[in-house]
Amino acid sequence: MYEIGEEEIAAVARVIRGGQLFRYRGGEGGETDRFEKRMAELLGVKHFLAVTSGTSALTCGLAGMGIGPGDEVLVPAYTWLASPAAVLTVGAIPVLVDCDETLTIATADIERKIGPRTKAILPVHMAGQPCDMAGIMAIATKHRLQVIEDACQAVGGSYRGQRVAAIGTAGAFSFNQFKNISCGEGGGLATNDATVYQRALMQHDLGSNFRAYVKDINEPFFLGTTCRFNEILGAVMNVQLDRLDGILARLRARKAWFFAALRPHPLYRPMPSHDAAGDCGKNHGLTFATRAARERFTAEFKRLAPDVAISSPIDSGIHVYTNWATLIEQRAAHHPLMNPYRHPANQGFRPVTKDDCPKTLENLARTVYLPVDIKKDQAWFERVADIVQRAAGLA
Ligand SMILES: *Cc1c(COP(=O)(O)O)cnc(C)c1O
Repeated sequence: MYEIGEEEIAAVARVIRGGQLFRYRGGEGGETDRFEKRMAELLGVKHFLAVTSGTSALTCGLAGMGIGPGDEVLVPAYTWLASPAAVLTVGAIPVLVDCDETLTIATADIERKIGPRTKAILPVHMAGQPCDMAGIMAIATKHRLQVIEDACQAVGGSYRGQRVAAIGTAGAFSFNQFKNISCGEGGGLATNDATVYQRALMQHDLGSNFRAYVKDINEPFFLGTTCRFNEILGAVMNVQLDRLDGILARLRARKAWFFAALRPHPLYRPMPSHDAAGDCGKNHGLTFATRAARERFTAEFKRLAPDVAISSPIDSGIHVYTNWATLIEQRAAHHPLMNPYRHPANQGFRPVTKDDCPKTLENLARTVYLPVDIKKDQAWFERVADIVQRAAGLA
């Protein structure tokens, strides 16, 4: 969904001419620092840490929260593989929770899945749709669980007026090529918790104890890994951030127009939302009563408009838990002794199986995603709306 152009080229050129590409030892006070400050302000959080991917943002967040072997984290059954992968990377076990019709974690299923080892909930704001954060935070408070929001697909989105990633204990963003704003690859972690932030700093920079910024850290040191941001990415992201409001405003206006243009039809309804105003507008979803109805509709739609790529999220490959082979087969690390599924502290863990979340599979199969391309003009969307109605009439 991202847009990129001459402004980013100019910003990158400035950084390269300036000769300071590294954020630490020279780049302090530069592009990355400015980007982090602006993100913290936008989200209304105390701390923001830019890292090299959404996956590493999640990993830094979980490490920051102290999650590890012996712990379980509740993860929705429909998400990018990175969400459960981050849990396993820190040595903990992901336990799958069903998704509701918004295709985000079903609050009703969360409490059913909480066990004695559950330490955190990892709601994912899929396709720009905010999760039921009120319900999730109420359960988290009641059971004393931490919450790490995966807002990788929802940069700039909000829930009841609060930005996503700023509601839980911590929140993660991705800036890869499929996200609302992008620098090719990148990510970031938001938190109000100083301990989580300091530990995330260490996780992202080999323990940090040799760095100048270490004066800000009063947590015990540990080694961590390397996923530092750099000044070129920082420069791109500062321009991307200027574009964010405009991108979201256009996506949301388009979506509002699209669903106002669709006449109600007994076959489908617009995909529901936990907060339509906070939705990023990057997906035009239709919910059908049954999988069979969705399949009939899809066949008619494809016949009428073979050039328009509609799809069902049930066919979205690695986003669907039944395709997470490395989890189902419990091959979760490069070395068997590092495999959380074999760690003594995780003994008696709850495995991921293909039967875990049948309701999710049903909800995915009842849903259609219409293509949303920010570069397409009004006439194109008018045609799609027209074909939806004709296909529904024939199905
Ligand atoms: C994109 C994405 C991530 C992280 O992806 P990276 O490629 O590591 O930046 C995590 N979770 C979800 C839901 C995503 O869509």
